Amino acid sequence: MIGNTFRQSGYELVEFGQAADVCVINSCTVTEQADSKCRQLVRQVLRKNPATFVAVVGCYAQIGSAALQKIAGIDLIVGTQDKLRVIEYIDDPIKLPEPRVIKTSMTKAPFTIAAGAGAAPTTRANLKIQDGCDFMCSFCVIPFARGRARSRALGDIQREALQLIDAGHQELVLTGVNIGTYQFEDKKFFDVVKMLLAIPELKRLRISSIEPTTIPNELIALMADSEVLCPHLHIPVQSGDDHILAGMKRLYTTAEYLQFIEYAAARVPDVLIGTDLMSGFPGESEAAFRASCDLLKNSPLAYAHVFTFSERGGTAATRLKNKVAPPIKKIRSAELHRLSEAKKFDFYKRFLGRQLRVLTEEQSTPGHWLGFSDNYIKVAIPCEKLSPNSLVRVRLASVAGDTGIGEIVKAASVE
Ligand code: SF4
Repeated sequence: MIGNTFRQSGYELVEFGQAADVCVINSCTVTEQADSKCRQLVRQVLRKNPATFVAVVGCYAQIGSAALQKIAGIDLIVGTQDKLRVIEYIDDPIKLPEPRVIKTSMTKAPFTIAAGAGAAPTTRANLKIQDGCDFMCSFCVIPFARGRARSRALGDIQREALQLIDAGHQELVLTGVNIGTYQFEDKKFFDVVKMLLAIPELKRLRISSIEPTTIPNELIALMADSEVLCPHLHIPVQSGDDHILAGMKRLYTTAEYLQFIEYAAARVPDVLIGTDLMSGFPGESEAAFRASCDLLKNSPLAYAHVFTFSERGGTAATRLKNKVAPPIKKIRSAELHRLSEAKKFDFYKRFLGRQLRVLTEEQSTPGHWLGFSDNYIKVAIPCEKLSPNSLVRVRLASVAGDTGIGEIVKAASVE
């Protein structure tokens, strides 16, 4: 989206790492590692190309501006609220002492996004419907970086969706920080989904990560019956231990979480359900860690994104005692990764010999197209003739690691 604003102003976009007059780094601050990666990236850019105008925007720019200002050479730092307007500050003739820092306070007011049509589609398109979060989980810095929960005006979402579909996108992915809390006037998340499903030209609608307590049962029923709403849910659980969940200030128990995903798995044929799991939260005993492993092993979950707890300044978890030693955190994360890979492999294998509808994205090697099925199975298709953004029907012939190999049955887009 930031790229589009530059393209529309006559800039030519180049691959990261190539020489450029301006370099914009859209930063993340979800973990300590993300902060340090951003600082490394900035230094790398400045080393390679000291004359480049460097702008750091986004979440880390919002809460880490003091650390960023210590890096000589950064020209501009723009926080979350104003990051889509970064070009205006770059083109602004007013010269202020460098680095210039733009940070406005974030309100709860609904928002709109002046989105352009963007480049020719090569893949699914993200459609942002919400920003910020009011949940205040004790480990999470996002409410500080992204501000309070606020929702995009319904008409503005519809306008951009139509624009993206018109531009050729076949799949839209609903994104935001806590999308299930969407609330614009009397409209809720379910209304956004229904509004988009009513667009006849839309081939696929996917929901990105959604918090456990925010998913209405009617959404699951809709997913079960719809050809367009993808049977794919990513529902972060974080831990399989109730004591740890309480310390994290999560709003559910393990039993409630399990009950919900078991209901979804039974109600939606072939649904793929993934989660986030955190290892090494303060107080995580061996038994608590085992409970997380058991939850992943013995539930309908097909994979977990694994995070290792790191202390984030200003969050409540920094005050908790019984910290877990770094080597133990590392071992536990590695075990969760292994379990996740095994679960994904087992899930994929269930579809061997079956037909899947895949949207192609890019070539892994010449003549091998990668894409995702409706239920988010990653599929490689050996076929010279395909192009990006094609809907094709394949039969899953084998599974290698985290990728299924598909044989073309027919091009779904011409069905
Ligand atoms: S729900 Fe919790 S983990 Fe997710 S963004 Fe909000 S505070 Fe962070």
